[in-house]
Amino acid sequence: MFGYGRSNFTWNGTLRELEGRRPPCFTERSRPSMTAPPSSSSGLEVLLSTLQNAGDVESTINILNVLDELLSAGTDRRIHYMITKGCSEALLTALVNTGRSFSPNFHLLLPLLHLLAKIGHRDRRIGVKAEDAGAALLTLNLLRQNIKYARRAAACLWVIQVFSSSVSTANLIGENHGLETVYRLIPHFTTKHLHAIKAAVDAFAALLCTKANVCSVVSKGYVAGLLRLHEDWHAKAVQHGAVAICHSLLRCLHKVTHSTAGRQAFVSQGGIRLLYGTTQTCLLSKDLESLVEPSVQLMRKCLTKTPLPLTSDWSAYSFPMPGRAHAVPAMDAEPDENSEETEEDDNEAEDSKEADFDEDLETDLHKLRLRPDPDRPKELLPQYSRLCPELSHDFQELGLCSEPEKSSAASSTSDGDAALLNGSQSHLSGTDGGWSDSSTSSSASDPVGHTAALAQLEARDFHSHRSILSTGPSFRTKVREARQKVFEDVQRFLITDGIINQVVFDLEDSSLQCPSDSLRFFSGFECGNLRKAVRVRRWEYDLILNADVNSSQHTQWFYFEVSNMVAEVPYRFNVINCEKSNSQFNYGMQPVLYSVTEALEGRPHWLRTGTEICYFRNHFCPARGRRKTTFYTLTFTITFKHNEDVCYLAYHYPYTYSALTAHLKVLQNSVDPAKVFFQQQVLCCTLAGNPCPVVTITARPASRGWKDMHQVRNRPCIVLTGRVHPGESNASWVMKGTLEFLCSSDPVAQSLREAFVFKLIPMLNPDGVVNGTNRCDLSSEDLNRQWSKPDPVLCPTIYHTKGLLYYLNSIGRTPLVFCDYHGHSRKKNVFLYGCSVKETLWQSGSAVNTVGLKEDPGYRTIPKTLDRLAPAFSFNSCNYLVEKSRSATARVVVWREMGVLRSYTMESTHNGCDQGIYKGLQTGTKELQEMGGKFCHSLLSVTKDVKSLDSQRLIGHIDNDVLDHKSHNCFEDDEPPCVEQIEYSADCPAPNGADLDSDVNANATAADEQEDNDGHGEAKVRSGGVGRALQSSARGRLFPPAM
Ligand SMILES: [Zn+2]
Repeated sequence: MFGYGRSNFTWNGTLRELEGRRPPCFTERSRPSMTAPPSSSSGLEVLLSTLQNAGDVESTINILNVLDELLSAGTDRRIHYMITKGCSEALLTALVNTGRSFSPNFHLLLPLLHLLAKIGHRDRRIGVKAEDAGAALLTLNLLRQNIKYARRAAACLWVIQVFSSSVSTANLIGENHGLETVYRLIPHFTTKHLHAIKAAVDAFAALLCTKANVCSVVSKGYVAGLLRLHEDWHAKAVQHGAVAICHSLLRCLHKVTHSTAGRQAFVSQGGIRLLYGTTQTCLLSKDLESLVEPSVQLMRKCLTKTPLPLTSDWSAYSFPMPGRAHAVPAMDAEPDENSEETEEDDNEAEDSKEADFDEDLETDLHKLRLRPDPDRPKELLPQYSRLCPELSHDFQELGLCSEPEKSSAASSTSDGDAALLNGSQSHLSGTDGGWSDSSTSSSASDPVGHTAALAQLEARDFHSHRSILSTGPSFRTKVREARQKVFEDVQRFLITDGIINQVVFDLEDSSLQCPSDSLRFFSGFECGNLRKAVRVRRWEYDLILNADVNSSQHTQWFYFEVSNMVAEVPYRFNVINCEKSNSQFNYGMQPVLYSVTEALEGRPHWLRTGTEICYFRNHFCPARGRRKTTFYTLTFTITFKHNEDVCYLAYHYPYTYSALTAHLKVLQNSVDPAKVFFQQQVLCCTLAGNPCPVVTITARPASRGWKDMHQVRNRPCIVLTGRVHPGESNASWVMKGTLEFLCSSDPVAQSLREAFVFKLIPMLNPDGVVNGTNRCDLSSEDLNRQWSKPDPVLCPTIYHTKGLLYYLNSIGRTPLVFCDYHGHSRKKNVFLYGCSVKETLWQSGSAVNTVGLKEDPGYRTIPKTLDRLAPAFSFNSCNYLVEKSRSATARVVVWREMGVLRSYTMESTHNGCDQGIYKGLQTGTKELQEMGGKFCHSLLSVTKDVKSLDSQRLIGHIDNDVLDHKSHNCFEDDEPPCVEQIEYSADCPAPNGADLDSDVNANATAADEQEDNDGHGEAKVRSGGVGRALQSSARGRLFPPAM
């Protein structure tokens, strides 16, 4: 607490008291000077009203004291209350009234400015309010009149800083030469008045929030000046505790380099080398560590964009689409030279991310509740009766033998492999509709290679099925290691000694000669993805991934072969064209490796491996496309165990289409036909002609008696789908767990089979999986955005899955549960997304009254049960919000169009868990499969009629009615910030309110300077936020002469 006047006053009450009665400072003496508001007004309103009416100095100071105490002792809520009651406006009016006079009274003005800075920092609209009150330019003038007085100047500068939170106010100050005024207040290194100097740098940084001001600063040549200032301050910062000033100068440079011109000026003035030098000294000193990150960010941001070393951004694989003349555009789009400019627009974007998120929520009650018309005529539905063999089957073989199923549908097959091979051969190596290479050369991506790979189940895929993978300890890259990797990325462009830059693998050029001491790469097999490898240094390789087929984007999934290695040497790999803006690779995730030598020695396992792993935005841009596209580097180091081994590296445990067909065959042969009705059929063929399997699992009836048969034919349906996104191989492992559990002899599985008919479509996107795409199918569409109106030719698997669901709907067998299995690349644990009208409306803050709205809370039953049953599951990560951007996903369409209350997306982590018994561990396929089994367990919670088992005993008490958790806005990351910012376009962290408060408070309590008597005596400044107290050794002006 501090006071400004002698008659110091301390407020010990609460805001409520102040609201209820008149404050003690409201004395008889000051009453006549105010226009008293109606007696019903709160104490705060009385204070503010008095403040604006220019009472005598002493009572005004008292009011300022009370307000300051309220502010200091209050929470954010109280401050917000003060702002809503007009506190900012009252202070601005008082400032204008006081500041306008010919010789303003600084005993009053100083506390006023201090309080305005503190309140203003918390008032998002302070800039606009200041403009309305005419306070912005007035403060600038006050600054100009008082540049010799450090305390006054600092106070004005803080206020200018907070006013600049508004773009228009910052521009107004800029137009009135405010930038020059403030810039000239920043001297080269001095030990005097650090707090005022820091205030000047902070105000300058704040003014740079607008495009116009940045342009103005660049054209005036201030970038060079800022660099020299930084260099000068940096050199002496340690000894003199002026690190905060260096930090603020870096923030100015960050803001300036938002513009292309600013970045050019930065580079041409030698900014990168200068910062590289200063950063190296920072790395050695603990005190300077806080400067490392903003410096590295700045360098990364300003590095010239380097196009990827590719002739085309278009995928190396193309597929001629039905109805399209050419799959590949005649020529890639020319680089858009001006595209970079658009980045600057981010500068003035005022909408917060949160606002964007809420805007995406669907608030139109019609869209949330009413079913749209079906996307096809009713006549097309009966064809799907063939996919419900349990309804027409006569179970004649009951009790006799286990003859193979004969379904009514011709496409039904008990021999999935045969169908696959025929299908794949006729399509993939055929002359029409076959694969073609987008490049002219015949190469490793030759269609034959793919067919061969497809036709033969790779040993490692088989083994990965058989092996039980133990959970490995999560590997966390150490802080310094991650920082070092990012720093080295910059270093590579400054110090080019030892750089080789030789292409050693190119999917499109099989004739490439690889040096004998280089690693060898290959990716021409099922699910493989690697387009190019460049040897950067002796033991370091840049890897470029192939875009999705018929597309120039979606790179993330990788899977390739590497050989010719030397054992026990750390090899560094940099995957340089990843697209996701963050990755679990920053939070303990490792890639997976399979060693052929290890397999031959009896250890055929995929294992998590790699050290020094981190993921960050790089300076690469597309070879020919828009320069604005952002790429990220995943870097990791692998030390191979064996010389001359053949190893496979992948983003996650692979699960191929061939593995699925083999697995289904094994499963079919393993079930007890007396108990389990298991039928595999073909839903449809994909664009490339791969059959998409659909599996029906239920219990056989106990007898052919009417009652038993009736029960079978009236079992509710549960529909489960998966792997619509090929890069989410974890979804397939969860699906594998589900399939195996449902076919098992576990009593829960038997109960489930007796209670339900399961329809599983384990792989909705076989073509994408086969070709190693990350997101799309061959038509380069995200199939999980096609559900509203799927095209029967381009998206056959979605079209027919939806057809099956429509059919079930039409015969009164709407599924009780629908779940689409996915993988999540940026979160831990396993969780569900569901759909709820009420929660969506609540979350969006919609005005729609939800009181009368009836909604069955049953959509929470399964997640709640899973929270208890499945160790990897996290209830708190679930949400039930319906977003416009996801209106065409399986979950939302099945919920809205089919009326399935329990319609979910199940997201499984690629990494591991941060709760439960797996906390801190990375999942193996075992844990993913376990999750698939536990999901089945949870389905017991929705049975109403489980005869043989006491479901309550198995799953515990489930309370359907209590909504004890709130939905979270958790579609984005929920990780803590990374050690090193992944993105570098962001500003360095802005000073927070507490920092500003402490600077201001230090200014307020500073011993009275001899401000009225320039040159007389020495100024003492206690610089709270800047560093230690300093005593000026020189007399004279506080600042160099300005203007
Ligand atoms: Zn997905």
